Amino acid sequence: MIVGILIQNGDIVTAEKRWRGDIRCRHGQIVELAEALEPATEEEAVDASGQLVFPGGVDPHVHMELPVAGTVSSDDFESGTAAALAGGTTTIVDFVHPQRGESFLEALAARRQEARKAVADYGLHMAVTWWGEETARWMADCVRQEGIPSFKLYMAYKETVGLEDADLIRALETAHKLDARVLVHAEHGDMVEYLRSRLAAEGSLGPEAHPRSRPPELEGEATSRMTILAGLTGTSVYIVHVTCQPAVEAVAKARALNQEVYGETCPQYLLLEESVYEKPEFEAASYVIAPPIRRSEHREALWEALRSGVLQVVSTDHCPFNLERQKELGRNDFRRIPGGAAGVEHRLALLYSYGVGQGRIGLERFVDLVSTRPAQLFGLYPRKGSISVGADADLVIWDPEATGTISASTHHHHCDRSIYEGFAVTGLPSTVIAAGRVQYSDGDLRVERGAGRYLARSLSA
Ligand SMILES: [Zn+2]
Repeated sequence: MIVGILIQNGDIVTAEKRWRGDIRCRHGQIVELAEALEPATEEEAVDASGQLVFPGGVDPHVHMELPVAGTVSSDDFESGTAAALAGGTTTIVDFVHPQRGESFLEALAARRQEARKAVADYGLHMAVTWWGEETARWMADCVRQEGIPSFKLYMAYKETVGLEDADLIRALETAHKLDARVLVHAEHGDMVEYLRSRLAAEGSLGPEAHPRSRPPELEGEATSRMTILAGLTGTSVYIVHVTCQPAVEAVAKARALNQEVYGETCPQYLLLEESVYEKPEFEAASYVIAPPIRRSEHREALWEALRSGVLQVVSTDHCPFNLERQKELGRNDFRRIPGGAAGVEHRLALLYSYGVGQGRIGLERFVDLVSTRPAQLFGLYPRKGSISVGADADLVIWDPEATGTISASTHHHHCDRSIYEGFAVTGLPSTVIAAGRVQYSDGDLRVERGAGRYLARSLSA
């Protein structure tokens, strides 16, 4: 019987340093680190010579089986976490979206039922989708009893999940009192709705109208407004999917004032260009995500923000919809296209290839962006995001020379399109260990439905 794993001769990389050594894993945890360890009997030895060893990726922004615009995102917790593992992400944090009028705790219980089939460990953020007499108490229960110290606020989508400013302020104040962190979708929702209606009235109904309905200045305005509100309530905020120069500037300005403001971006905003919305035959619908893909000058601002530390995390906002039967719901009206795209499997490979490989960021920074910082910011560190004795044995053995081409025909996402179709990558996981077990090895995925554990989180630990 195999009692543990010994990873030998790897180049171990953390957010702080890099060294050559061995890692012993037992009972799902890292139990020993040294320059050289002798294999014990009945221990599975994994030779990592010539390869890098990272802490497992942590993606703090994904949406499995999320209802949107009359359909449901096409990866469920099982297929989505399996795709994550295949790409080196061993932990995800998804969301609970209570209906208006619904108890947050009942919505949480239902979401935890859906998530039980996950193959990898997961946490949940609570979206504050409506404000009522009991909302503040539910938020306190989330933090104190449910292991949820992070709340999501939407400044857009006011007809479903978004809040008016008065309620944003109530939620920010409550989160501050609870020492919780607030994730924010920052776009000027009312102006987006106005532009969507105006474009439709003018007869612009195809996917090419989508970016015109959500211009960068509306993201910049909302990001700036949120940092001001958060500064005045004293709340720690994390701006999700920063896509453009005006939003980067707003985050940078708040951080220069020593506010606790953080930000993430996603590979699609670092690597794609607005011209994707000109693709023919409705293929452009695959790229309908919010905020939209921007013009190229914004990409450079995002890379610079990752280099300088203005942004701290690269997540995916994974939220796939098939082109057939799902995106097609908006064939005659871009406003009905469910917004979102697949990405959770390719985050590490894309950031490694186009970030580390092209000299834009260093290796330690790469590990920080995809694993350590998200773990720290959302109450998972050092159990996740670190290579240290006592941490979970979630490890990625990375072949820096391996090459591949991303395609919907080979990805593990349950989605008929990839927004990275044809993208070449250099650097891929050869072995992924999660919870102390080899779950992916050279293309062979060996996951177990339901093996993922719910992660109760705390920011004060
Ligand atoms: Zn999202």
